[in-house]
Amino acid sequence: MARPAGHVAYIALGANLGPREKNIAAALNALEHTRGITVERVSNLYETEAVGGPPGQPAYVNAAARLRVTLTPERLLAVLQQIETSLGRERRERWAPRTIDLDILFFDDRVMSDDNLSIPHPLMHERRFVLEPLAEIAPNVRHPTLGLTPRELLDSFGELSFD
Ligand code: ATP
Ligand code: CA
Ligand code: CA
Repeated sequence: MARPAGHVAYIALGANLGPREKNIAAALNALEHTRGITVERVSNLYETEAVGGPPGQPAYVNAAARLRVTLTPERLLAVLQQIETSLGRERRERWAPRTIDLDILFFDDRVMSDDNLSIPHPLMHERRFVLEPLAEIAPNVRHPTLGLTPRELLDSFGELSFD
């Protein structure tokens, strides 16, 4: 069978305001209905305490998804931001509570960094709430610069310093 066309992107989904599970489902539904995007795989939902940001904010529901896209990384980011806005995301202080947060983790094995977009996501390897759902759906995918799988990155917590 021919290899499917396009690129493989992994994204992280997180919600800690409103109907959290519904927000994640609505974001996935919106992605599926976007031209140039196919949702190929979705992890389970993981509930985690909020890390960083203002104190006392509600717990997150997190997930990861594998997308097949025929868009550029910049266009994919624009689509994710549009979906965030449509789901009531307000941009206030960094790491404030939000109805939905959609981040690009990997885009094929591309490595890039500019003002608006860094791939791989620069903090993903330090975040359990990103790596656990990702390990479920991408057990054999290696971080393009660190060379480790999501599980290996989880196992390296406290042992390695990437600074
Ligand atoms: P964090 O980056 O620590 O996860 P955040 O997701 O809360 O924080 P946002 O306010 O959602 O941060 O986004 C801030 C900016 O990050 C966005 O405007 C976007 O341009 C930029 N950005 C850079 N790299 C990425 C990426 N890989 N995925 C999504 N946004 C990114
Ligand atoms: Ca984020
Ligand atoms: Ca974000």
